[in-house]
Amino acid sequence: MESQKLKRPQHKGSPRLFKNPVLERLTHTHISAPLIIFFSIAAVLIYYGIFEKGFAVLEMVLLFLAGLFFFTLVEYLMHRYLYHIPATTERRKKISYTMHGVPHDYPKDKSRLAMPPVLSLFIASVLFIIYRSLLGDLVFGFLAGFLVGYAAYLSIHYSVHAFKVPNNSLKILWHHHAIHHYRESDRAFGVSSPLWDHIFETMPRKTPVERQKGSLN
Ligand SMILES: [Zn+2]
Ligand SMILES: [Zn+2]
Repeated sequence: MESQKLKRPQHKGSPRLFKNPVLERLTHTHISAPLIIFFSIAAVLIYYGIFEKGFAVLEMVLLFLAGLFFFTLVEYLMHRYLYHIPATTERRKKISYTMHGVPHDYPKDKSRLAMPPVLSLFIASVLFIIYRSLLGDLVFGFLAGFLVGYAAYLSIHYSVHAFKVPNNSLKILWHHHAIHHYRESDRAFGVSSPLWDHIFETMPRKTPVERQKGSLN
């Protein structure tokens, strides 16, 4: 809260998204809500996979890691192609703005960096149905990893916006995302890691920060 006052004026406050006060309220959420929901569901899925479906612990660990890894790809693709959907129609403009324009225009609005509980539950249910039909019982470990990846992404994104740059190796993530928000919105889409930016060649162009340190790669 206090830190908001110190920031640049254009990042103050928060735009209203819905006329309906209930819907509007739902767009402001504490960061812990989706984290608790995703971690709880993941725990239940793992428990169920091992004790009801008879998976070995090692199998669950491997499925979990596969789901986690797959999430990082989905995170990249969603951010690059859905959040940054070209606003060619009014409808698309609205989608892009609601999903991503708000965080871009008001990156310091902490309550909007989290996800409403109803939406978290809805996403988890839809993912369960999709992955269940594709993977059968493998869904239990896989979706658990995917949801933990999602929770990790949400907490990393929140931390990058809410806290100061840390003085350790994590600062790479702070700089990476700051470049995306403030300098090159067509680069640096990865939030939880720059891995897919390397693979799909969307790493930031040469910036003063990089030049200072010499070439990073
Ligand atoms: Zn973006
Ligand atoms: Zn951001």
